Amino acid sequence: MTADIHISKHEAKLEDIDSINLWCECDPELRADPGSVCHKCYWYTRHRVCYHNLNDAMKRNLKVFNKLIPIDEMPWMNAAYFRYSSFGDISKLVHARNFIALAAANKHCNFGWWTKRPELIEKAVLKDNYWPGNLVLNVSAKYLNKPMKYVPCFADRQFVVWTKDKIPKQKQINKEVEYICKKQCKDCLVCYTKNNIKIVHEELK
Ligand code: SF4
Repeated sequence: MTADIHISKHEAKLEDIDSINLWCECDPELRADPGSVCHKCYWYTRHRVCYHNLNDAMKRNLKVFNKLIPIDEMPWMNAAYFRYSSFGDISKLVHARNFIALAAANKHCNFGWWTKRPELIEKAVLKDNYWPGNLVLNVSAKYLNKPMKYVPCFADRQFVVWTKDKIPKQKQINKEVEYICKKQCKDCLVCYTKNNIKIVHEELK
């Protein structure tokens, strides 16, 4: 039986890119830190309070992903590009194992995965010894205006959020490996493809 997973549809920047999102309890220390990205999180401050259907769906997804899903029960994704975690994040090893397996079961689709929990993904890779070529990992920096010094070697790049006054200008970046996010994802796809970009800069909204 195919796993019953809720797929989220989006507008604006993520128009035409669907996503899977798991409910997570955010780190209270990060949430309380005004310098953190989590402190400004629009899911936490708005959607988590108002969007009851979305929250219920994320909680149902969490239940489904809390168990290891057999590969033959993974759904077929009707998409060329797909996102993991446009809201929330993984919070357990089994979530990472399932996200990797879902990508493996859908080789026709490129998965852009955002996370602040790369250590769980590292454990999943060590356990299952597998990383599908259609899975693109964007590790999100936890703090505003602060690229990470260390990004795991299996990650494709880091994703850094900047305040308006601090975000680098085009002329300041090394365009071979850096990119300033400013389009719709479907017209850009930098974070959904294997390429040379190692750091994406996004202005805080
Ligand atoms: S850099 Fe491109 S793909 Fe990545 S989040 Fe921005 S618009 Fe989307």
